[in-house]
Parts: sequence; C-alpha cells; structure tokens
Amino acid sequence: MESIQENYQRILATVPAPARLVAVSKTKPVELLAEAYQAGCRLFGENKALEMRDKHELLPHDIEWHFIGHLQTNKVKYIAPFVALIHSIDSLAVLQAVEKEAAKHNRVIDCLLQFHIATEETKFGLSMEEAEALLESEAYKAMSHVRLVGVMGMATNTDDSDLIRREFSTLRSYRDLLRSKYFGPEFKEISMGMSGDYGIALEEGATLVRVGSSIFGARQYSNIPVND
Ligand SMILES: *Cc1c(COP(=O)(O)O)cnc(C)c1O
Repeated sequence: MESIQENYQRILATVPAPARLVAVSKTKPVELLAEAYQAGCRLFGENKALEMRDKHELLPHDIEWHFIGHLQTNKVKYIAPFVALIHSIDSLAVLQAVEKEAAKHNRVIDCLLQFHIATEETKFGLSMEEAEALLESEAYKAMSHVRLVGVMGMATNTDDSDLIRREFSTLRSYRDLLRSKYFGPEFKEISMGMSGDYGIALEEGATLVRVGSSIFGARQYSNIPVND
C-alpha cells in the first residue's frame, strides 16, 4: 500500500493550477493529517465542526481549513474564528449564523452556495430558485461579514460517468449564471469531485476538488460520535 505522502503527491500531480486539491481528512486522526502536511498539503476539508476545531488546535496554523459538511447553525461558533472557506451554505439561516459569528471575530468568511445536483434525494443543497430567493432577500443584502465566492455540489453516487458529467456541467452553469447576474469575477469557485469522480470534475471546470479516501484510505465510521 502506498503512503499518504505518495497518495497526496500522485493526486496533486493530476490537479492542474489554478484548481486546488482539498484533502478530506474527516474521521482521520491528526497523525495522518500531519503526514499529508509533511507532503506539502496545506488545505484540509472536514465535515464536523468540533472535530475541525480540535484538529485546528493541534496542527500548524498555516493550514487552510475548509468546512465541507452540513453545518448546523449552533455549531458555526466553533469554526468561525479560523475557517478559510465554508463549502456548504444550503440555507439563508446558516448563512445568517455565519454572518453573526464572523462579526464577533471581526472577520469576513468566504462561503460557497451548495446546490443539489444529484438524482438522489438524500443530499443537501439548494435549487436555483432557492439560491436566487436567498440572494434577493433583504437579510442577505444586509450582510457584511460573509462573502459568497462560488458553488459546491456532489454528483450522484453512480458508475454512470455521463450522468456525473451532466451534473457537474449543470453546477458550472449555475456558477456562470449567478456570476453574471449577481456577482463579478470574485464568484469563481466550483467545488466538485471526490475520490471517484474528481477527474471528470476537473474536465468540467472544477476549481476545488475534495479528495478523501484516495489520499487517506477508506474511512471507518463505527466509533465516530454521532452528535457532533
Ligand atoms: C467525504 C466527502 C468527500 C470526500 O469523499 P471521498 O470519496 O473519500 O474522496 C468530498 N466531499 C464531501 C462533501 C464529503 O463529505
């Protein structure tokens, strides 16, 4: 089996700049994150607020922490002091919570709008209609401590690469449409692609790919606390 450092280097070599590789380290102990750090990784993705806060405290502070999971409003406070990018804004309520906590720390936190692009019901995310309602709300227009810089989505978990490609292409069209209607060039990020489909995502214009198991190995969920 290859080491984490070898995995990281091998995958990094397939991610052409300006696209960036987010090493998804959820459920993995800090020792394994430190191995990726040794290989040059400075961009980690986590999906539980408390787990991310704890790892942030234990690892070097030149790491950019990306939050990629469903975020509960009452957990924003744990990550607001340091998070670099929240990929998973899926409601006005969570964006309002980020605004409030960011203000307390005198920060402007970069965020992505998460879209539901998969055929599966289970995944979180906005529809285009919901995203436009959020962007047109007075509550959003009054915010000054969050900055929306792009979109995020997860494709259907399938072997059908044509379907995956169509879903990624849809996400890119959402980014393009919102950028021209509501934003400017700063609305540039497209976070899409995981271990199984990041190659397709890059071909479809991903600027951030989120790769976990291909770097760190398969995850074991059995002893992870459920109420983080
Ligand atoms: C776990 C996770 C990933 C990484 O998945 P792998 O298949 O392990 O690469 C990417 N994005 C999100 C939102 C995740 O929760």
